[in-house]
Amino acid sequence: MQYIVFLLLSAIIATAQIVIASDQLGEPLSISPVALPIKYDNVIETVTIDNESYQVPEPWAGNRQFPLYRNFDELLPIPKKYTYQESEIYILAEAYPSLVRMLDQAHLDGIDLKVESAYRSIHYQTRIFVRMLKQGRTFDDIIRYVAPPGYSQHMLGTAMDFYPSNWEFAETEQYRWLQENGQRFGFEETYARNNRFRMPWEAWHWNYIGEPHFSDETVVQETEVKETGTGQPDAPDESLAEGPAVKAETIISN
Ligand SMILES: [Zn+2]
Repeated sequence: MQYIVFLLLSAIIATAQIVIASDQLGEPLSISPVALPIKYDNVIETVTIDNESYQVPEPWAGNRQFPLYRNFDELLPIPKKYTYQESEIYILAEAYPSLVRMLDQAHLDGIDLKVESAYRSIHYQTRIFVRMLKQGRTFDDIIRYVAPPGYSQHMLGTAMDFYPSNWEFAETEQYRWLQENGQRFGFEETYARNNRFRMPWEAWHWNYIGEPHFSDETVVQETEVKETGTGQPDAPDESLAEGPAVKAETIISN
């Protein structure tokens, strides 16, 4: 019986070797599988900018964001009284009511919290790279400061940078206020000190992850938001129509 099994196994191995031998045109068959010089594409992340392909290294690798695109009608402009130099800055309609509530509360508490940047399209992010590459900087140098296209939370429309979006922010009363209050409005400091993404600390960068539940107070505030007018009447209606259950399902986790 054992002999028959041996013969069968030998036949199977012999058949396999014939296939391998004919495929590899005389390459030795003694290479152990672990030593095979194969690189699997599914573990190498690349981005293509101006027809040039670049490998995305850590800590960006593994942190690609989805979805890659937002339609303009999914976005709302943040009230200019809350943006740095009254610039026109957009955020995902779903995050808008919570953001305005949070900024209103900060204002009431005497905290001058201004958004310096929020939604940035993947095209915008790509243009940054094109410009910097043309200036002679290398891809590896640029990604020390700028997320590769497809890797920025700003593309989701849920993330924002508060002013000043640099290291000074960690020393401000605005940052202390956000640390105490941001979470109850559904905002998270994504790249906190020693964050799970192994990214450098960015005290100024906060992302909307959704509120745990709606209170009566929230409904009142959302009505006020609608009355302030945004020039895009459809989107606020959609966000008002969303109940807590829908909201929970559409939370973007990072
Ligand atoms: Zn940011």
